Amino acid sequence: MGQDNHHKRSTSAGLPTSNARGRATGIPRGRQIQKTFNNIKITILCGFVTILVLRGTIGVNLGSSDSDAVNQNLIEETNRILAEIRSDADPSDPDDQQPFNPNATFTLGPKINNWDEERQNWLTQNPEYPNFIRGKPRILLLTGSPPKPCDNPIGDHYLLKSIKNKIDYCRLHGIEIVYNLAHLDVELAGYWAKLPMIRRLMLSHPEVEWIWWMDSDAFFTDMVFELPMSKYDAYNLVLHGYPDLLFDQKSWIAVNTGSFLFRNCQWSLDLLDEWAPMGPKGPVREEAGKILTANLKGRPAFEADDQSALIYLLLSKKEKWMDKVFLENSFYLHGYWAGLVDRYEEMIEKYHPGLGDERWPFVTHFVGCKPCGSYGDYPVERCLSSMERAYNFADNQVLKLYGFRHRGLLSPKIKRIRNETVTPLEFVDQFDIRRHSTESKGLKS
Ligand code: UDP
Ligand code: MN
Repeated sequence: MGQDNHHKRSTSAGLPTSNARGRATGIPRGRQIQKTFNNIKITILCGFVTILVLRGTIGVNLGSSDSDAVNQNLIEETNRILAEIRSDADPSDPDDQQPFNPNATFTLGPKINNWDEERQNWLTQNPEYPNFIRGKPRILLLTGSPPKPCDNPIGDHYLLKSIKNKIDYCRLHGIEIVYNLAHLDVELAGYWAKLPMIRRLMLSHPEVEWIWWMDSDAFFTDMVFELPMSKYDAYNLVLHGYPDLLFDQKSWIAVNTGSFLFRNCQWSLDLLDEWAPMGPKGPVREEAGKILTANLKGRPAFEADDQSALIYLLLSKKEKWMDKVFLENSFYLHGYWAGLVDRYEEMIEKYHPGLGDERWPFVTHFVGCKPCGSYGDYPVERCLSSMERAYNFADNQVLKLYGFRHRGLLSPKIKRIRNETVTPLEFVDQFDIRRHSTESKGLKS
């Protein structure tokens, strides 16, 4: 059947067979057109069925389903990488080969006895790294999170928001910051991981006067407030806590270990050594948990945690340690989130940043939320929306410097709060937190 371009119609689908056949058989023109249409319909139908069959049987993707295929590949690749990161199988890792020996006495490392002298010598020999700068002690904020991705991807998003919040605070106040993802001691995984991290940083940074540990689930919510460091001149450990809850009630929440400071000195190394032995995971931690639950008021039955172990140590060896421990409660070095996050609007209405206490909490800590783990003590939706509010409440104080704020405490969207200007330096003087925050401002009147 030859093609006859003469009979092709511009509006037809360009199917020459029908035209050719029509002319060859001498069928009247009206019927010929009708037949042509029928053929077009059948051909389109066949083509459609063919596409469906091909998609179903050999996975051929056409047109809009290309993006489905790309998404599918992404999901598969992501799952493959996650499975690889989550698997512990690395035969070359000697740590995985070490058998656990419950009889060995656990230590954080070789016993160091003369750190104060060694450190002082180092400071004298390295005047370019002073531990005090313009009268202020050098502070290093340390935080971290588990080495593996969170069970729920939203947990990683809040880890990102949390570190961004800490970077902002530290940048505005001249504090150094370290984020650690490694378990420096395999025995001290989980909340115990902070102990070997703190020790390692003290020893690796003799120029740092104070190491400030802050949990990943704690947010700075007062970006202006500064720690009243001169208050702590005679102390080596600053904890948020209450003496009556500690010594009268022996409460397991008398102090909080989500945000605290250690001076870089021999005393701190000694305390860490006495604090750590309840930490090794497995039977040691399980057994120690029973002692802690039996001795601390309100403590549920579970494995030993770092906070309970520290409280137990301070209670049982009060004379040895308490001289150098400052229990801070005049502002929220740690603030329990549940009583704070619903009051942010009220705070915005009545007060201003820089107060640090219940009027404008310095730190909001999401105790019991476990956004990175699979389960916590509170519904996950409540935790996540509360964290979002805390983050935005704090971020508004940062964005204000640049002339913006969030549209609402639950909104990632922002809006402009002042017009652009040809004299921007006026605003630098007006809004720069570094100029306004002084130590005296941080003290409660
Ligand atoms: N953490 C860590 N590595 C880990 C597990 C936990 O660095 O493998 C840190 C993390 O910063 C976390 C903190 O330890 O915030 C304490 O744990 P969590 O906040 O879950 O305890 P909670 O404050 O709820 O008692
Ligand atoms: Mn925490």
